[in-house]
Amino acid sequence: MSFTLHGIGVSPGIAIGVARLASHSRVEVAHYVLPAQFIDKEIARFDDAMNTVRQEMQALRAQIPANAPAEMPAFLDMHLMILDDSTLSSVPKQLMRSQSCNAEWALTQQMEQLVAQFEAIEDAYLRERKTDVVQVVERVLKVLLGHPDNLPSNESNLADCILVAHDLSPADMINFKRQQFAAFITDVGGATSHAAILARSMNIISVMALHSALSLIRDNEIIIVDGQQGVVIVDPDDAELEEYQLRQNQWRIEHQKLKRITSSRAATIDGIEIELHANIELPQDIAAVKASGATGIGLFRSEFLFMNRVGLPTEDEQFEAYREVAAAMNGMPVTIRTLDVGADKPLGELTEHTLNPALGRRAIRLCLSEQALFHTQLRAILRASHYGNVKILIPMLSNLTELRQTYTAIERAKTSLTAENIAFDNTIAVGGMIEIPAAALMASAFAERLDFLSIGTNDLIQYTLAIDRADDKVSYLYDPLHPAVLQLIVMTLRAGEKAGKPVSVCGEMAGDPKLTRLLLGMGLRRFSMQSASLLSVKQQVLTTQISDAQSLIQKVLKATDTDKVDMLMARLNQ
Ligand code: PEP
Ligand code: MG
Repeated sequence: MSFTLHGIGVSPGIAIGVARLASHSRVEVAHYVLPAQFIDKEIARFDDAMNTVRQEMQALRAQIPANAPAEMPAFLDMHLMILDDSTLSSVPKQLMRSQSCNAEWALTQQMEQLVAQFEAIEDAYLRERKTDVVQVVERVLKVLLGHPDNLPSNESNLADCILVAHDLSPADMINFKRQQFAAFITDVGGATSHAAILARSMNIISVMALHSALSLIRDNEIIIVDGQQGVVIVDPDDAELEEYQLRQNQWRIEHQKLKRITSSRAATIDGIEIELHANIELPQDIAAVKASGATGIGLFRSEFLFMNRVGLPTEDEQFEAYREVAAAMNGMPVTIRTLDVGADKPLGELTEHTLNPALGRRAIRLCLSEQALFHTQLRAILRASHYGNVKILIPMLSNLTELRQTYTAIERAKTSLTAENIAFDNTIAVGGMIEIPAAALMASAFAERLDFLSIGTNDLIQYTLAIDRADDKVSYLYDPLHPAVLQLIVMTLRAGEKAGKPVSVCGEMAGDPKLTRLLLGMGLRRFSMQSASLLSVKQQVLTTQISDAQSLIQKVLKATDTDKVDMLMARLNQ
């Protein structure tokens, strides 16, 4: 029987497909004692299952396109290594003989031993590898049990599959990047969590904060996901299916129509030119950037190069990635943000031991205390600046001391390159992110000392309203239209104007077409967003007359009552 779940729509569109449960819970395994004469047969069954999984993984490895990120083959190689290690390939067989038990039980016992050993390791990165052991074992168990493989990975046809998970980390999402899931739905998460941002960047329909999707939905059940309304319909009846198929077609037609404005100039009716830039996570996002008609990259979240891999990327690896993007953008600006890990983007032991990760050693704080890591990244960015129009963006600045220390680090990287005769753009622009209220309140001081500012509204809202952006329990308080947030944005825009320095917004507010007119009226002229949102925002720009909207916008900025703000916004967007 059909039933409906409500959550937060984080990436719009309508998907109809088959549920694939990304269960982190353990596969249920029975224990039975085998008579001695059956042990050889059981061992052969175990070997067959191991072979099947090995072949599957090798086939997946061979299918990885040449331009896929390096971490994809590395990830599969690691799983193959785990599979072939004697602790998994031989020890369970010894257990089967010594305990006369079935293959599933022996394998599970051995997995538990290994997990316990991993948990005792001090190095956080190695400790986390227990997850890989569990994933490999679960694959083998599913073959032994004759279950279809539920673990979503790089399998072939996922276009009709809807991934149902308790939670997805940014690293999980990067692993799924470019996989053709029809949609993602999760029990937890907020609209501006990094997992949600990645869902939008992948242009994959998504609903989060459903609370009990994983326990209520069964594998292979048909589900409908409405990423706009935040609704999931499980086991729909014929009428519901028909209605949503219709809506899905309408959505696609609307989207097709938008493509017509891809190459048109982004200007308001009153002729004001607006820059629409794109946010990216990896060089492979460039194709989507180009298809969107973006005229630059306003935010390259470099931290995603650091995820799903063994160890940190070297200077050369980073340089290659930055150079590829700079060259592909052909002289258009490419704003590379220095490493912003921490909070909901953990990175092994670098980001551990923090009481409150969102308020801890993240972003520029971490880079300034990990000089070698920062130096490597700055050298890589500077080297790439020789191949395009590269800019450096510093995340999470809170005071001028951090800024001075950052400039010192940039100078040090420049000096070392000069000494080695390596070319770079000595006049490279350096910008700062305004995402802490303290920084917005002193935006003038930052504007005077930097070449440009970029408002990170996701964090600015989080820190102004004191709500964790990834926690769905407080997501009802996450309000981009809160008067305090709007005042801080206005303050930053004015500071930029006064200092003659450009200011952009690169948080999710920039990609929400319902906020485009308001931001234009507040004085914003440079937006940076996920490529998938760019055409909807451009459409709003093309249909806005800023002078006409001004009086309504001033009323929004003066309003302190949420109902009044909503009413005014509805009028503004008419
Ligand atoms: C922001 O905080 O708005 C931002 C763009 O940075 P991130 O979402 O990566 O924290
Ligand atoms: Mg941020």
